[in-house]
Amino acid sequence: MRGLLVLSVLLVAVFAKEDFVGHQVLRISVVNEAEIQKVKELEELEHLQLDFWRGPTRPGSPIDVRVPFPSLQPVKVFLESHGIEYFAMIEDVQSLLDKEQEEMFAFQGRAGSTDSFNYATYHTLEEIYNFIDLLVAENPQLVSKIQIGNSYEGRPIYVLKFSTGGSNRPSVWIDTGIHSREWVTQASGVWFAKKITQDYGQDEAFTDFLNNVDIFLEIVTNPDGFAFTHSQNRMWRKTRSKTSSLLCVGVDPNRNWDAGFGLAGASSSPCSETYRGKYANSEVEVKSIVDFVKAHGNIKAFISIHSYSQLLLYPYGYTTEPAKDQSELDQLAKSAVTALTSLYGTQYKYGSIIDTIYQASGNTIDWTYNQGIKYSFTFELRDTGRYGFLLPASEIIPTAQETWLALRVIMDYTRSHPY
Ligand SMILES: [Zn+2]
Repeated sequence: MRGLLVLSVLLVAVFAKEDFVGHQVLRISVVNEAEIQKVKELEELEHLQLDFWRGPTRPGSPIDVRVPFPSLQPVKVFLESHGIEYFAMIEDVQSLLDKEQEEMFAFQGRAGSTDSFNYATYHTLEEIYNFIDLLVAENPQLVSKIQIGNSYEGRPIYVLKFSTGGSNRPSVWIDTGIHSREWVTQASGVWFAKKITQDYGQDEAFTDFLNNVDIFLEIVTNPDGFAFTHSQNRMWRKTRSKTSSLLCVGVDPNRNWDAGFGLAGASSSPCSETYRGKYANSEVEVKSIVDFVKAHGNIKAFISIHSYSQLLLYPYGYTTEPAKDQSELDQLAKSAVTALTSLYGTQYKYGSIIDTIYQASGNTIDWTYNQGIKYSFTFELRDTGRYGFLLPASEIIPTAQETWLALRVIMDYTRSHPY
């Protein structure tokens, strides 16, 4: 009996969807280095199970942390005792999740075409893969689906290729969703895919672009993580591979690339949200892209899309050494951000990863840049923290629209500056 009870408790723990009742997201304001050190001490306390949405970086830069209900009291007492300011940005994480689920449920259903697909709601992996198949079937001359590998758990990893012909044309790569909980990114990726098929043949400049350049778009870059955010834990960020720890699963796929791998700016602990993995490219989701990029050999711009914070970033993340094209990348980022802001006034900052956010080693675009892909960028889409990873679905289309303007600037510039 006892054994059965233990087993059933374990099964509930394994299969029940994680709930976030009473969890809050605190925004912490730090004004000096000493306060940052204090927050870092808090970060080290594993039993509190804190989930830093935006980690401590420098004075004046806000910190967002999801605090489980049982840890709220000790965390607040700790902050107050050190005179560190904070407020609850999200009062109850679960109530936002319930709202998100209700919306998804209300719009649920298999679309019969990409015209009837609902771009203003979040979708499951199955729905997005169905969308991909519809788009390919509707636009066989323009769109094809390439399987670049299988995820750790065996799901197919797909890349959409938009091409009007030629062989191995200069190409632009865009990926979304490498961090699975950043749902507005996969949703934007879906919107971009449809937008490309709509604008080709309609928008003269874009048609000309696609007559010369191919676009590769990987919408669900971390399929296992994404499936897990739907089935088990909406806050899942990493891959789902086994680690040396019995209790902790997954590697941060944006710390697993072979660029400054193992330097500061990633964790060697399997339980960390920024765990870099046992070795570079250990994650098949990363390795599949590495192999694809190397085999292709003619990718000229590489854009990896995350959320949130409203940033446009270029290399490097692992070193303070400026990229050799820094001034050109900075100018291009400025133009892209100007275009983005022109639509709805959304404010973005831009700069190198290490100067703008923090040291991040083993990240995607440091590797692509070192491979010789000059126009390597990372976006952090909306918002600046009001909802963070739980951006309301009503913001999907505006987010995608404004981001598309910035992507167009980078794509057009890439075409007019061959190298
Ligand atoms: Zn991310």
